[in-house]
Amino acid sequence: MKKKGIKVLVYHKGGQERDFLESFFRKRTDYEPAYISSSEELNDALSRSSHDVLILESPDGTAALDGDRIDIPAIALVSEDIPGGLKGVVKYNIDCYLISPFHQEDLEHKLRSAAENKSWFRRLINEKRDLEAIIELTYLISSTLDPREVLYLVVRKLSEIIDVSRCSIISVGYGEKRYATVISSFEDPGISNIRLDLKKYPEIKKALQSKKPLVIKDAQNDPIMSSVRKLIKPLGIQSIAVLPIIHRDEVIGTLFLRTSRTHKGFTDREIKLCTAIANVSANALYNAFFFERLENEKSRLEKLAITDYLTGVYNIRYFYNRLEEEFSRAERYDIPISCIMLDIDHFKRINDTYGHRVGDLVLRQFAQLIKRHSRKSDVFARYGGEEFIMLLPQTGIEGAEVEAERLKEFTRVHRFKGIEKEKITSSMGIACWPVHNIQTSDDLITFADQAIFRAKKSGRDRIVISKKLRKKADG
Ligand code: GH3
Ligand code: MG
Ligand code: MG
Repeated sequence: MKKKGIKVLVYHKGGQERDFLESFFRKRTDYEPAYISSSEELNDALSRSSHDVLILESPDGTAALDGDRIDIPAIALVSEDIPGGLKGVVKYNIDCYLISPFHQEDLEHKLRSAAENKSWFRRLINEKRDLEAIIELTYLISSTLDPREVLYLVVRKLSEIIDVSRCSIISVGYGEKRYATVISSFEDPGISNIRLDLKKYPEIKKALQSKKPLVIKDAQNDPIMSSVRKLIKPLGIQSIAVLPIIHRDEVIGTLFLRTSRTHKGFTDREIKLCTAIANVSANALYNAFFFERLENEKSRLEKLAITDYLTGVYNIRYFYNRLEEEFSRAERYDIPISCIMLDIDHFKRINDTYGHRVGDLVLRQFAQLIKRHSRKSDVFARYGGEEFIMLLPQTGIEGAEVEAERLKEFTRVHRFKGIEKEKITSSMGIACWPVHNIQTSDDLITFADQAIFRAKKSGRDRIVISKKLRKKADG
C-alpha cells in the first residue's frame, strides 16, 4: 500500500519559484503537492483545512489571502520584492520563510519541521481562538447589557465555535432542584423560561449533584441515560456535555450542549473552552436569575400584603384603600355605590362542635365560595372574625340586593367539607350611596353593619337593607 504523503498546498504565480518547487517535489515521493494559482482556490482550500502545510509566495500569495490568519503551518517564499514579501510574512505570522536564492535543503528542513509541528500548530491555533472567544465573552458579559441578552450572546458564540445541535443555559433555583429553567438557547433567541422536569434529564441532575462537568460520549448507551433511553432515541443525540455554572459555591445553572449522531463527540479542547465560559457566565446568570427572583418576590409580597392569611381573600387594609377610591369616584361622577356586610350565622357553634381548626377551614371555604361567585368589579374582603364585607361600585340598591340574594343562596346550598351534615346560613346588611343618608365612606360601612345587626335580631339567614333613607331635602 502506498504510504500517505504530507499534503502540501502550493500557491504560486509561475516563474522561478515554480521551477524550484516542481523540481523539489519531483524527487520526493513522501509529499503530495497540490498546485493552485487563484485566490479563490487558495482561500477555499484553507477554509476546508484539507492540507498539512501551505507554501506560498509573498507578497503575491499573502496578498491573495482573505482572512487575517492562516490555520495551518505555512512556508513563505520571498523573492524580488523582498520588503513587501516580508511584510506579508509578518502580517500572517508566518514563522518559516525562505528568501531567494532558494535551496532545496532549506525547504526540506522547513517542510519536515512544519509537518511535525502540524498537530501542535493546530492546537496552538485552536487555543488562541478559544482564548479570543473567552476574552470576547468576558468583555461582553461584563458589559451593561441586559443579563438575558448576554446569556443569549454566550450560547450563540459557543454554537459558532462548537458544532452542536443544542446549546442552552439552564438555570436552577437555590435549594430545590427538581425543575430547571431554560434561560437562553441558541436555537431560539426569543426563548424564555421553559421549564424542564429534571426527571427527564438525569445528566443535568447528576452534574448538579456532583458540581462537576459531565460529558457523555455515547448518549444512546451510557448507563446514566438508561431511564430516558426511549425518550432520547428518536432525537438522534450522540454526545451531551453539562457544565455546571457555579456562583459562590452554589450551582445556579448549567451550560447544556448536545451533538447529533453525525458528530464525533466533544473534544477535550471544547470541554475546556465550555468550562471557562461556564465560569465567566456565572455572574450574568446570577443577575438574570436573581433579578427575576426579586421581581417574583416583590409581587408575591405585594399580594401577601393585601391578602387575609386565613381565607385568601382581600384583607381589610386593601378594602379601606379601595373604599376611599371608589367612594370618591362615586361622588365625583354621581354613580351609586353599595356595600354588603356578611356574617356567618351561629359560627361559634361550628367551632364548639368541630373545633377551631375545622372552623378555620369552614371560614376559608365560605370566603372562597363568595369570592368565586362574586363579580370581578366587586371588592370582597374579610372584615374580621367570621364577618366579611363587599364593596359594589356602580351598583344601586336593587343590584346589591340581587347580588346578596345570590350569594346567600350559594352559601345555603353549599356542602362544606369537614361539616358535611351542617347547613351554613348567613346574614347580610346592605347600605347604598346615595339612597341612604351617607355622608362619608365610613358611613357606608356603619350603615351596612347596623342593617346586619337587625338581620341577626330578626332571626338570621336573611338580608336587611339600611333604613336610614336620605331626606328629601338632601337631593
Ligand atoms: P351569629 O349568628 O350571631 O353571628 O353567631 P356567631 O356564633 O356566628 O357569632 P359570635 O359573634 O357570637 O361568634 C363569632 C365566632 O367566630 C366566635 C369566634 O371564636 C369565631 N371566630 C372568629 N374568628 C375566627 C377564626 O379566625 N377562626 C375560627 N375558627 N373561628 C373564629
Ligand atoms: Mg356570626
Ligand atoms: Mg360576627
